[in-house]
Amino acid sequence: MIDNLKKPAYATLPAGFHAALPLTEFPDARIFELNDALRREFSLVLDTTSEIAVKTLSGQVSDHDGALLAMAYAGHQFGQYAPRLGDGRAMLIGDVIDQNGHAHELHLKGSGLTPFSRGGDGKATLGAAVREYLISEAMAGLGVATSRSLAILTTGETIMRETPKPGAILARTARSHLRVGTFQYARANHDTETLRALADFAIERLDSDLMDAGEDRYAQMLNRVAERQAELIAQWMSFGFIHGVMNTDNMTLSGETIDYGPCAFMDDFHPARVFSSIDYYGRYAWNKQAEIGLWNLSRLAEAMLPLFANGEDDQIKAAEIALKDYPDRFKTAWTGAIGRKLGLPSGDQNAFITATLTAFMEAKVDFSRVFTALTRYAGGGDQGAVIAEFETTEQGKTWLSQWEAVTGGRDALSEDTKAAMRTANPVRIARNHQVEAAIEAAESGDKAPFEALLLALKAPFEEDSRFETFETAPQPDEVVHQTFCGT
Ligand code: AMP
Ligand code: MG
Repeated sequence: MIDNLKKPAYATLPAGFHAALPLTEFPDARIFELNDALRREFSLVLDTTSEIAVKTLSGQVSDHDGALLAMAYAGHQFGQYAPRLGDGRAMLIGDVIDQNGHAHELHLKGSGLTPFSRGGDGKATLGAAVREYLISEAMAGLGVATSRSLAILTTGETIMRETPKPGAILARTARSHLRVGTFQYARANHDTETLRALADFAIERLDSDLMDAGEDRYAQMLNRVAERQAELIAQWMSFGFIHGVMNTDNMTLSGETIDYGPCAFMDDFHPARVFSSIDYYGRYAWNKQAEIGLWNLSRLAEAMLPLFANGEDDQIKAAEIALKDYPDRFKTAWTGAIGRKLGLPSGDQNAFITATLTAFMEAKVDFSRVFTALTRYAGGGDQGAVIAEFETTEQGKTWLSQWEAVTGGRDALSEDTKAAMRTANPVRIARNHQVEAAIEAAESGDKAPFEALLLALKAPFEEDSRFETFETAPQPDEVVHQTFCGT
């Protein structure tokens, strides 16, 4: 028994939203990594060798009847509606409570077959678990709302992908795994009262102050979801993050990033950059994410329509009102974030931001290193390091002189502006080639590169000479061009 692991509140939803799962069997499961800080955040008494910890985090035991669940959901995948997706290789095992008293769900990924597995095997590779652990913890280090990684377990199994791979389970937490697709599923399969029960559950969990807001609470909830997504997507973009698979089943109501499949932080900047091997048309490119966010929110609004007002016209009007602030909220969040990265004075800097992105694209500038160099220059460092990030010296000098003109030069920057630059511009990101190197090593039995990278990403805004190797951009032969989901 693990203290403080409670039966998931999600289990109180009507039966159609979940499928009970039996206990699993993973006789050779071992804890590969345990996130001690997160363990303490949730007051979980776990240690890496205790049998009960291993068994609980692999779904082999449970303290509560009916606690192990697969969630049901639908979703638009690359624009195509799939009526029944659901957790095909994941299992909700309980709720944990953080230091502020907020409940989070504890979820296992790779724990085996469920009624939603369709043609899949229900499993996950160690590589995929390492990837999600590293990138989600990197996101947490950057201050981006995200699911967190509590543990990786190796299962001792060999699973088949293109080649045989070691199997693993990732134990992750999130305030809620409710997603746009959960509401789409409810709308398509259930009556309005059941849809209302789901919405009330979401409100209680995520926006409890709206519980007293009467019938208008659903429209207000949609507005909150949109606000969280606008801010989240602006943050992603400010760090050069491309989620890669923004299907409606991967967009949360909580505003937490989930589903780290084919995501990536980009190295050299191109606004239309895509990494996912299956995103043939660039639907989820870096510069499409805000627009796709609204498209997904519109699917949520459609699913929630029966909860808004009375009569179709009024319902549509209520949905439109709930979403109307999204473009401005995104724009404010994005221009604020990029403005802080560049140390820009307040006021309309759109022309300079646009010119900067064009210059960065043309000069194939690394989207993190250039900001790090600028932050260091602003703080008294070498201007040559900024210029060196551009393909040619002339491009670098031209852009820097424009920056000097807009900001008045580094001597004109206030201490607050310089401090804001330091907290907006990470010195280290989870670079693809380094993540891939850590995965490759982990899969062949060497955990050290994973541990080193994880440590380097914990406090990504702090200068730390121990981690200099993680600041480097990939050499041409190290560049990762494609990432894959569902591995
Ligand atoms: P994703 O692209 O990770 O959001 O997954 C889309 C759907 O495929 C979800 O319903 C997943 O549960 C399911 N899925 C992904 N990988 C597997 C797998 N190995 N076995 C069963 N279902 C899977
Ligand atoms: Mg998913």
